[in-house]
Amino acid sequence: MRIGQGIDIHRFADDPHRPLVLGGVVIEGARGLGGHSDADAVCHALADAVLGAVGLGDLGRHFPDTDPVWEGVNSVGLLTEVLRMAHAEGFVASNADCTVIADTPRLAPHTDAMAARLGSVLGCPVSVKATRAEGLGALGRAEGIACLAVVLLEQA
Ligand code: MG
Repeated sequence: MRIGQGIDIHRFADDPHRPLVLGGVVIEGARGLGGHSDADAVCHALADAVLGAVGLGDLGRHFPDTDPVWEGVNSVGLLTEVLRMAHAEGFVASNADCTVIADTPRLAPHTDAMAARLGSVLGCPVSVKATRAEGLGALGRAEGIACLAVVLLEQA
């Protein structure tokens, strides 16, 4: 078995029309996050956790944000590609646990949808939890959203 952890953080975008995408779920009516891809911090943290578990570096190494190919890319696609890489190393996901830190919007109504979406991508149980930064620091000032993820892989 292998364990990996990942963290990702994105600031809110200036563009008011940019959608907020977390865990592959579009959260209607919320301000979007800025970034080269769709800025899905949950998918990015999870993908980094998978890469860490198999010792393949980090997301930036495989999908550099200087490469126009990845501009605006759907991060569920990146996560799928990372899982394919792990599978090529002989591993499949066993379970994963994610914690999203956001003071706004309120994410509790969306965590089940994110968990279901990610579970279908990983092919295993995925837990998504939401917490707030209680006004502390940049996350507490609602300048962005962060996600922490842990994944367990087992030999395919
Ligand atoms: Mg990211």
